[in-house]
Amino acid sequence: MGEQSCDVLILGGGPAGSTAATLLAESGLAVTVLERDSFPRFHVGESLLPHSLPLFERLGVHEDIRALPHTRLKPGAFFATADGSRLVEYRFAQALPPVIPHAYQVRRDEFDALLLARAQRAGAQILHGWEALTPQWEGKRLHALRVRDPQGQEHLFRFRAFLDASGQKAFLATRMGWRFPYPKHKKVAAVSHFRGVWLPPGEGSGNITIVLTKAGWFWFIPFADNTVSVGAVLDVGFWQAQGKTPSEVFQRAVEQTPEAAKRLAKASPVLPFSAIQNFSYRVTKLAGDGFALIGDAAGFLDPIFSTGVFIATTTAASAAEDVVEALHRHGRVDAADFAPTVTLTRTLQRTFFSFIRSYYDQDFLPFFFDPRPVLQIPAAIVSLLAADVLRPGRFLLSARFRLLKLLAAGQKLGRLLGKPLVPPLDATPADFKA
Ligand SMILES: Cc1cc2nc3c(=O)[nH]c(=O)nc-3n(C[C@H](O)[C@H](O)[C@H](O)COP(=O)(O)OP(=O)(O)OC[C@H]3O[C@@H](n4cnc5c(N)ncnc54)[C@H](O)[C@@H]3O)c2cc1C
Repeated sequence: MGEQSCDVLILGGGPAGSTAATLLAESGLAVTVLERDSFPRFHVGESLLPHSLPLFERLGVHEDIRALPHTRLKPGAFFATADGSRLVEYRFAQALPPVIPHAYQVRRDEFDALLLARAQRAGAQILHGWEALTPQWEGKRLHALRVRDPQGQEHLFRFRAFLDASGQKAFLATRMGWRFPYPKHKKVAAVSHFRGVWLPPGEGSGNITIVLTKAGWFWFIPFADNTVSVGAVLDVGFWQAQGKTPSEVFQRAVEQTPEAAKRLAKASPVLPFSAIQNFSYRVTKLAGDGFALIGDAAGFLDPIFSTGVFIATTTAASAAEDVVEALHRHGRVDAADFAPTVTLTRTLQRTFFSFIRSYYDQDFLPFFFDPRPVLQIPAAIVSLLAADVLRPGRFLLSARFRLLKLLAAGQKLGRLLGKPLVPPLDATPADFKA
C-alpha cells in the first residue's frame, strides 16, 4: 500500500469541498481533494440563492459563474398550485435590506468544474477518480483514510485535518452510524433537462418555478439557452404505486398536475432521466478530533427552497477558517476547534428546515401563497428565500416568520372547528389518485 500525506484532506469536489479547498490552499496549507467522479458531471442543485454571492466574490468566482455558457440571472421565484389557479411571485429585489436583487441558475457540470478549477489554481491538489474506502482512527482522532486510486491501487492518506464533503454519500456518517433518515419525509426525485418548456414572459422568465402536486412538487429551472431543468419531488408511496422507471413516474405526476402539463406540453427531454432517492437524513455528529462534516455530508432535508449549495459553501468556508485558526494556534485540530462550524451548521439546518416543514403544512400554505402586506411579512419571506439568515440583528425577520407560523397554528385550529382564518388552499387537482 502506498502512503501519502497532506495538511488537509478533503473528500468530495462538489461546492463544499472546492470552497474549503480554495480557502485552505490560499492560506498556505497543503490541501488534497479526493473526487470519485471525473468532471464535468451531471448533478442536481442548479438554482442558487442571492446571499451566496458575497462568498462567490470572496472566492473570486462571481464573474466567472455569471459568464458560464448556461448561467441565467434569477431575479426571484414563482410558486403555483397544481391547477395553476394560484400563483405567487417573490422577487429578491423586494427583500428586507440588505437587498441582493438576484441569484443565478447554473448547470452544475459547469459550476462544479469552475469551483474545483479555482481550488486547483489556489494550489490544492485535485485527484479525480480516487475513492475513499475506510477511515483510520488513533483513539478518538481521525488521522488517515484508506483510499483507492483510479488504477485500483490502495493508499494510506495521512493528514492533520479531514473535511468530509462527500455529499449525499455522507462517507463518515454512513460508516460510523451517525446518519439517520427522516422517517416521515421519504421522497424520490425524477429529473431531466428539457427543450421547449413554456416559460413565463418578461423579467420573471429567469425565476425558478415551483408547482405543487398532492404527491409533492415540481421545479422548473431555466438556463440561458432556454433548456430547463425539470424535477418532480414525490412521495415514495406515489413512486411505488405509479410506475417503474423515473420517466414513467415523472409522466404520471405530470398528467395529474395541469400546471406542469401546460408547461411541458411542447417539451422533450434532452437528457436521460435520473432518479434521486433517500436524500432526507440527519447526521448526529458533525465534528471530532481531526475532522468535520460539511455540506450535504452533514445532513439534508429537502430541496424546495434551493438552500443546499448555500449551506454547503457557507459551512465549508467556516470549517476552513476553523482549521486555519486551530493549526496556527496549536498545530492540530480538535473537536472543540470546530465548534463555530458545528453551531453554524445546526443554526442553518434549524432555520431552513423549519421553513421547509412549513411548506409541507397545509395550514401555512394559504399565507405563503397570499401573504398579507402587513408588518412587511412578504419582504421577510423574500429575505428567507434569499438566504439572508446569517446577518446579526435579523431578529425582526425571525419574528415575522414566527408570526406566520402562529397564523398557521390559528388556521389549523379554525379549520378543525370549521372556521378557518382564511380559505384553505385547494392545491391539488380534484381527480388526483395517489
Ligand atoms: C432533488 C434535489 C434537488 C436539489 N436542488 C437544489 C437547488 O436547486 N439548489 C441548491 O442549492 N441545492 C439543491 N439541492 C441540494 C444540492 O444538490 C446539494 O446541497 C449540494 O450539491 C451539496 O454540495 P456538497 O458539496 O455538499 O455535495 P455534492 O455536490 O454532492 O458533492 C459531493 C462530491 O463528493 C464525491 N464523493 C462522494 N463519496 C465519495 C468517495 N467515497 N470518494 C471520493 N469522492 C466521493 C461525489 O462524487 C461528489 O462529487 C438539491 C438536492 C436534491 C436531492
